[in-house]
Amino acid sequence: MKIYDGVIDWGIKRARDSKMIGLGFHSVIDGLVKIDPKKIGNLDLAIPQKFSDLPDSIKFIDDFWKGLIFSFSNGSALQLMIDSKEVYEWIMKTFGTGTLRLGGTSANMAKGLIPFPFEKILVYVYPLKKEIANLFSNSKNLFVVGNNGLDHPINAYDGEGIDAIHWIFEFSQGQSITVKGQTYACPRSNRFIASWNPANSKLEVRDPFRSYVIDHAKDISHFLVSGFHIMQEVYPDGETVEDRIDELLKFIQTVKDKNSEIRFHLEFASIRRDRVRRAVEEKLFSMFDSLGLNEVELSWVARDMGYDEKDILNLDVERISQIISEIMRGDLSRVHFHTLGFYLLALKGDYDLESQKKALAFASLAAAQRAMDGEINLERFKYVLDIPEKYDYKEWERDGIHFILFPTKVVPSPKITVGLGDTISSLAFVLG
Ligand code: ADP
Repeated sequence: MKIYDGVIDWGIKRARDSKMIGLGFHSVIDGLVKIDPKKIGNLDLAIPQKFSDLPDSIKFIDDFWKGLIFSFSNGSALQLMIDSKEVYEWIMKTFGTGTLRLGGTSANMAKGLIPFPFEKILVYVYPLKKEIANLFSNSKNLFVVGNNGLDHPINAYDGEGIDAIHWIFEFSQGQSITVKGQTYACPRSNRFIASWNPANSKLEVRDPFRSYVIDHAKDISHFLVSGFHIMQEVYPDGETVEDRIDELLKFIQTVKDKNSEIRFHLEFASIRRDRVRRAVEEKLFSMFDSLGLNEVELSWVARDMGYDEKDILNLDVERISQIISEIMRGDLSRVHFHTLGFYLLALKGDYDLESQKKALAFASLAAAQRAMDGEINLERFKYVLDIPEKYDYKEWERDGIHFILFPTKVVPSPKITVGLGDTISSLAFVLG
């Protein structure tokens, strides 16, 4: 079966036929810092041996170092939220902002969608300051809601400053750090992300975005929600994550009441905090049409359900589909699992299977081309078509759910990998 045949033209046409696509609620500035181990000196702390030894957020400077060294010595990516203003100020003083780049799940999705002829991509950016507004590319189909309605971020920002930053500390294979006099080498180039975002951590849907979306719900076809990984369990004012998620649900319900045709997608992302993750699983899974996640994220969901997370991390397709079937007991009718080498799509009910498959193929080409070149360029999609797939295409039914195992294109030495998951999930969802 030629699963990639004709998908480029199909995807472009499909994008052209689209209506407005909403993206909320997490756009932020990334600060890229290349770690120079010589400047770090000799650290005096115990290296966390496994994931469970790590703090679930950064409250003290030591927590920061623990996260960084864990990530460095294991060569594995890690993201932790910073919960202390003092630590935020200390990092800023010690490392500066680094190189600024647009980040956050919603802005990443916007970046991945605007190169295609979608009519309107509407992204939520809060706080919308000059610095972040300047990082959005100058696309005609990109909008935020400003005081005068739809506008490009650069015409709609309110004030200046960097109120929120996600530091990405990058290190390279072969670098070494000394801890308690002993030297640790970095086995694989990777990154440690430390995020400071108290301004948006409640995922509050503020005006004028809120009223615009409610008033123009009829113009919207798809809405992708993400950002739960920046939420706190209990906020300094006593509000809880459950309170905040209930508020968000009220907004979604109001929009649905205005237009029941809108499809809602939830992008899971790396939710490290147990109570936040459980609140998302329990309160949101059944309220969305579609869910997107990778193998690490699904392994956490499996663990929360009492299963062994290792089966998922080992990519046991039987166990992955079993967990997905359980998640889909509620109203959730589409789950898009992505990992290196294949996607597993699960569909329940009234879906056009051909469109869904073509959308997966298009997303796979886009991700591979973006990995190869660093940014999306439609003209260069054809160069990834020749990359052979390593898995076999498969389709089957289980518990009334249709599963598609879709082999993807994997670029051998990618220029970037950050944000690829967001590109994959958003493209496959809006085109499907
Ligand atoms: P992020 O949070 O950075 O988006 P994810 O783990 O969610 O990371 O997504 C990464 C996805 O990108 C993988 O699941 C895989 O499908 C895709 N990907 C990673 N590396 C490559 C590559 N070299 N070529 C093509 N696709 C890749």
